[in-house]
Amino acid sequence: MSEIELKPCPFCGSKNVYMPIIGGSLVGIVCCPDCGLYCTLGRNNLSGKEIADRWNRRVQDEKNKD
Ligand SMILES: [Zn+2]
Repeated sequence: MSEIELKPCPFCGSKNVYMPIIGGSLVGIVCCPDCGLYCTLGRNNLSGKEIADRWNRRVQDEKNKD
């Protein structure tokens, strides 16, 4: 299983962000242990990659497209 990379926390810049596993599965949440961020990104059936894609998406990415 390849590791999924998450961008640093947008609020405090911590690289310790992680996707918690609750009840044995990912639950569409990204947490930052350093500032207490608890970010719900989707529903329970999202894969780790889908969660990471949402987390890693930034408004700037859209603006810089062309
Ligand atoms: Zn943070």
